[in-house]
Amino acid sequence: MKYSLIRAALWAVSFLILALAPMLLAYLGPVAPRTFWIEAGVALGFVGLGIMLLQFVLTGRYQRVATTFGLDSMLQFHRQMGIVAVGFILAHPIVLFLSDPVYLEYLDPRVELPRAVALSAVTGALLLLLATSLWRLSFRLSYEWWRALHGLLAIFVVFVGTVHVLQVGYYVSGIGKQVVFAALGAGAVALVVNTRLLRPWRMRRRPWRVEEVHEERGDASTLVLVPEGHAGMTFLPGQFAWLTLGETPFTLQQHPYSFSSSAQEAPNRVAFTIKEEGDFSAEARTVRPGTPAFLEGPYGYFVPETDPGMGCVMIAGGVGVTPFRSMLRTFADRGDPRELHLIFANVSPDQVIFFEELEELRSRLHLTVVHVLEDPPEGWKGESGLLDRELLERHLPETPPEFEYFICGPEPMMNIAESALRDLGIPQKRILSERFDMV
Ligand SMILES: Cc1cc2nc3c(=O)[nH]c(=O)nc-3n(C[C@H](O)[C@H](O)[C@H](O)COP(=O)(O)OP(=O)(O)OC[C@H]3O[C@@H](n4cnc5c(N)ncnc54)[C@H](O)[C@@H]3O)c2cc1C
Repeated sequence: MKYSLIRAALWAVSFLILALAPMLLAYLGPVAPRTFWIEAGVALGFVGLGIMLLQFVLTGRYQRVATTFGLDSMLQFHRQMGIVAVGFILAHPIVLFLSDPVYLEYLDPRVELPRAVALSAVTGALLLLLATSLWRLSFRLSYEWWRALHGLLAIFVVFVGTVHVLQVGYYVSGIGKQVVFAALGAGAVALVVNTRLLRPWRMRRRPWRVEEVHEERGDASTLVLVPEGHAGMTFLPGQFAWLTLGETPFTLQQHPYSFSSSAQEAPNRVAFTIKEEGDFSAEARTVRPGTPAFLEGPYGYFVPETDPGMGCVMIAGGVGVTPFRSMLRTFADRGDPRELHLIFANVSPDQVIFFEELEELRSRLHLTVVHVLEDPPEGWKGESGLLDRELLERHLPETPPEFEYFICGPEPMMNIAESALRDLGIPQKRILSERFDMV
């Protein structure tokens, strides 16, 4: 994702205003003052609910929001803000109970059974939401089931939270405010319905078919897809789409994959190169030609400038080479003369996806390729070991201002490459990262 201080600042301010909006709305009009701590406790609840509502926008994959900030950064932000929201909402009753024990009656089933049950359940839901997000693997939850549970718990929290605000009615008593709060809660649910039901419904009318499956090195396969009865999909090299395989788009198994084919072959032919990681990718690697598929996209901001005067340094690890293969093939098909450097880290030669093809692309492009092998074979004369600052320093071009720097690979490699580039004086706005591990 391309970094821009202005964009980040605008984003942060808009987020803050929207997160505070429910609280500001609640405080609008005449207010009977209470103690500081009671007001603080109430404010925590409103702000927590405000952030929670915004989470549905962050995860809704809305092109406009995603292209402003980048889907991966947005999901990381979602994760951090989710923790803040849960913290605020849980702190809300604690501060109130400590300020005035009379508030404990909200949890007393003898005073009001449905309210006590709902508020106890929502507390449990919040804790479960937090725990399953932080320690999904300890709960032995597959990514797909976790995602479904995560969505349901979040809807439940927002529903109970909105009903709670309306029911307490201290600040939200007038019909105008009640309608706005009810609309906010309903709006969040509508966003989920749009993402999970309406979007797949629309995708049903734009099916694809797997036409070819090519075995690659490194436990990977390339799937070539063609549109069935529609105009297909255009994309920019470096972007990705959400892929579903099988007869229906209504499935939990929808996964993000970078286009690995040339953008020049689109819209009638797109390809994805999939490395075996878990259940979906293992199945995807062995699908047969003729298998139906569905695509949602394109998404992503990991895209080179169109100006051929701007060179590209591509730092890849393992299957992180897929977006670079798309860029390189696109440049080759367009006869783009720009200077290109690929630094490609792998464990061993048999893991180097597209090894032969990269050799061939070298003859069609102004491209240098540096292979880095962690476990090199006997007699290997190239770079070996792990990618680090010294290695980058040896191979980076000497004219930094005219290059963009792209990084895609395993998380530790990306962190090292990002900080090494910064240390070497590359401006942050020239560094773009694509993280395959979104959560
Ligand atoms: C922008 C982007 C582009 C990607 N491009 C490629 C590519 O070109 N080639 C490739 O092999 N892999 C790519 N990936 C990674 C790929 O999406 C995951 O490896 C795949 O979803 C694993 O699913 P699984 O069921 O096989 O494995 P699992 O064992 O279920 O998942 C392994 C890990 O993959 C991630 N993951 C799983 N499902 C999803 C999902 N629905 N959404 C987001 N993350 C998920 C989670 O971090 C999970 O821990 C990309 C990921 C992203 C975010």
